[in-house]
Amino acid sequence: AQVVQAEFVKSSVRTEDCPSDGLPEFALVGRSNVGKSSLLNSLVRRKRLALTSKKPGKTQCINHFRINDSWYLVDLPGYGYAAAPQELRTDWSKFTKDYFINRSTLVSVFLLIDASIPAKKIDLEYASWLGQNQIPMTLIFTKCDKRKKKKNGGKRPEENVSDFQKLIRGFFQTVPPWIMTSSVTNQGRDEILLHMAQLRNY
Ligand code: GDP
Repeated sequence: AQVVQAEFVKSSVRTEDCPSDGLPEFALVGRSNVGKSSLLNSLVRRKRLALTSKKPGKTQCINHFRINDSWYLVDLPGYGYAAAPQELRTDWSKFTKDYFINRSTLVSVFLLIDASIPAKKIDLEYASWLGQNQIPMTLIFTKCDKRKKKKNGGKRPEENVSDFQKLIRGFFQTVPPWIMTSSVTNQGRDEILLHMAQLRNY
């Protein structure tokens, strides 16, 4: 399930503009700063591939990366960026929601959640929307290497993960699969690639 080839294909503004070759795809989405670019780079074992989608003008796009010439990793814009004007935010949710609902080759959404901090309202709202709309989802907990000191009132990643799962239980008919990751230690990388391979073969 390893990545031997990864190439940036295109940035699209609308679902209709996405590649039309019918290859299966997985979309990475999460709050700004959750560690999405780091995870993408870790998955493809490259330091800079995800830079493409960080270029000004490309951050609000659907970015397709073709892997091993047989499937796509899709980088979606991060949500919850406080500095984004309200207008942009509404626009963002309209176009990503359109993508989730209408992109027929989308196998699963990989929702990234920062395991080093307590659950954020916006992440819960996002998970709830995906659940209500029955969009297949996998939870990817990021930054699991970060150890908060108890005396600072912080919780361990494992505790934040189990808190988050309890909070979203009501949104789903079946508990979504979940993987704990770190782009620093590469924890979870092989597990994600294996999970994607299994989902593609269903
Ligand atoms: P993005 O905005 O979601 O693309 O997030 P980035 O990948 O740019 O990461 C945001 C910040 O979190 C950067 O300072 C990264 O170095 C840091 N970061 C990302 N992944 C990890 C991780 O797994 N562990 C730790 N400790 N820090 C991380």
